[in-house]
Parts: sequence; C-alpha cells; structure tokens
Amino acid sequence: MSEVRHNWTKQEIVAIYNKPFMELLYEAATVHRRHHDPNTVQVSTLLSIKTGGCPEDCGYCPQAARYHTHVEGNDLMEVSQVKAQALRAKEAGSSRVCMGAAWRNVKDGPEFDQVLEMVRTINKLDMEVCCTLGMITENQAHRLAEAGLYAYNHNLDTSEDYYKDVISTRAFKDRLDTIENVRKSNVTVCSGGIIGMGEALEDRAGMLVALSTLDPQPESVPINALVAVEGTPMADLPPIPIWDMVRMVATTRIIMPETQVRLSAGRTQMSREGQAMCFFAGANSIFAGDKLLTTPNPDVNEDMAMFKLLGLNPQKPFTKVSQPKTVEAENSKYQPLGEKPRWSRPGHTIERNEAAKQNAKLTD
Ligand code: SF4
Repeated sequence: MSEVRHNWTKQEIVAIYNKPFMELLYEAATVHRRHHDPNTVQVSTLLSIKTGGCPEDCGYCPQAARYHTHVEGNDLMEVSQVKAQALRAKEAGSSRVCMGAAWRNVKDGPEFDQVLEMVRTINKLDMEVCCTLGMITENQAHRLAEAGLYAYNHNLDTSEDYYKDVISTRAFKDRLDTIENVRKSNVTVCSGGIIGMGEALEDRAGMLVALSTLDPQPESVPINALVAVEGTPMADLPPIPIWDMVRMVATTRIIMPETQVRLSAGRTQMSREGQAMCFFAGANSIFAGDKLLTTPNPDVNEDMAMFKLLGLNPQKPFTKVSQPKTVEAENSKYQPLGEKPRWSRPGHTIERNEAAKQNAKLTD
C-alpha cells in the first residue's frame, strides 16, 4: 500500500519539524531508503534563457525590473546557444536542463515557439527538459508536453498566508491554477519554495501542507534558502542556519516520500558537512553549474569532488518517468489559441517592496 498521504495538517507538520534532531534525521533517512537509492542524486543544470526585466515584484528576486540590482538583462537565447549549453551540462554529468525565463506568464507567439524548439532540441539529446516560464494555460502546457517537456517548475514560494507579504502582482491561487494546468498534460510537476524570507515556522509548514495535499504530490520539490541580493527588498535578511535547512528537507522527505527533494539556491552558504546532512535527511537532487539563474552556485568540479567524497552517483535521465516523445511543430495537435487569461493582480502594498523600488529611483 502506498505510504503517500494527502491530508497532512499544519500541526502535524510543525510537530515533525520540531522533533529532536536525531530522531527527525533517522525517521527521514528511513523513509528515504524505502523509496529511493540513498546513494543516487539527480543533477540538474539551470539555464537562464531570458534574464531580467520581469514585471513582477517578488521580494526575493533580483530579476524584477523595479529593483536596483546588478543583474544584466538578456533577450531570449537562441536555440543553438541553448543546445551548446545543454551538451556541456550533459558532459559534466547533468541529466536535466531547467530553462528559466523571467516572464510573468507565457504568451503565444514567436518567443514561445522558440522555447518549444529548445524543448524539442534538448529532449532529442536524451536529457530531461524542465521549464520555468511563469504562469501558463492548459493549452500551453499541452504544447510543451508535445514538444517533449519532462517537468514544469512553478514554485509556491511560501504559505498562502505569507505570500501577500512577498508578492503583490499575483495571488497564491494563480500558482495553484498553473500547477493544475500542468497536471492536465503529462508533464511532471516541480514545485517548492524558499525559506529565510522572514516567514514563521507555521508558514514553512503551511507551504508543505499546500504541496503535500496536491494529489498527486509534485514529482519534485525544490527547497531553496534565500540568497539575499543587494537591491532587493530582502537584501538585509540574515542567512538561515543550516539546522533549519536540514529540518525542512527532512520534514519534506517524510511527508512526500516519493518526491525528488531538491537542494536548490543557497548551497554556496552551506558546508559539505551541511549538504551531507541534507542528503542523509532525504535530499536527492542538486542544481549544478556556477550560477543559479542569476545567483552564485558551487562549481561543477566542486560538486563532483563532493559526490566522490560521499560515494554519491548522479542519477541517469528518465529513471523515474519514461522519456516523452517529441512531436514536431508541423505535426502538432495543439495550435496557439492566443488566449489572454485573467491572471490576478491583487496590487496591495508591501512596504519593503515599495521601499526597495524607491531606493532604485534614488540611486539611478
Ligand atoms: S521570481 Fe520570476 S516572476 Fe518573480 S520577479 Fe523573479 S523572474 Fe519575475
């Protein structure tokens, strides 16, 4: 019988998170071994295919156009450039390429067609392809699936309650709607969040309630530690202690036993010992490459040295779900609909976001 439960409560999750550390670690490692090979870790490469200039106001993000950060914007990359980077990532041991575009939502048109071509190209390299492009409609999810997309990333970021202290340009429900649209295709779901944004423990638990009560649970859950970037509203927040990260990973592993738990942003601030504790507690994926979209990440060689030290092996592509077939554009069953969906714009005021925007004006 499946051990997966979809009715976790916030109280139960807080109680797991607060267990004595050794007990928590042991329980998480036990669940992990029942569902996964503990010596295998999936390696993904994150590629920013369109950087900066985003109209959203996510308080943690240096790519939001309104904040004054050192991120230099780039137009959408060419398919050939993406292919070259994917080949390099494959050689370095990555089984997945995750392409990120700083968009609020996907719009049908030449740019989306170009992304679909990138998906086709990478799937043909026998690598898992993931995209994170903002909000998408059901039709767009089907078009991505047809191109051969393996996973779509759309993070919940935090709890529904705390969401309105982080972002004012869209609502938590929009996130859930996009995940639902992805679920209507055969693309797997990657959705997680960030800790260290000033949230309470109840918010971390609230986010895990939202993720674990999805049925099916996401195939992949990234746990990020905030990387506080100068110029963003969260620039002055202190780094989270490693203990919080390990507890968060362990709790995620216990309540979502089959999912791939990803150690994502914030690894540069973690020692090898800290990362090893996370792997023991059930993390079984990392992002490789010296940059995560725009923030620093450990060097690939450093990661491979850590794998060697710990006796870890990179996971082969399509171990969990088989490779999707690519349908060429001319044979596509799904045509662009030119939809203009009404994603919401709550537009409330978040003081620290407003202050960061004003700072930008002052220093420009
Ligand atoms: S997190 Fe994504 S949606 Fe939010 S500002 Fe950054 S690029 Fe835009």
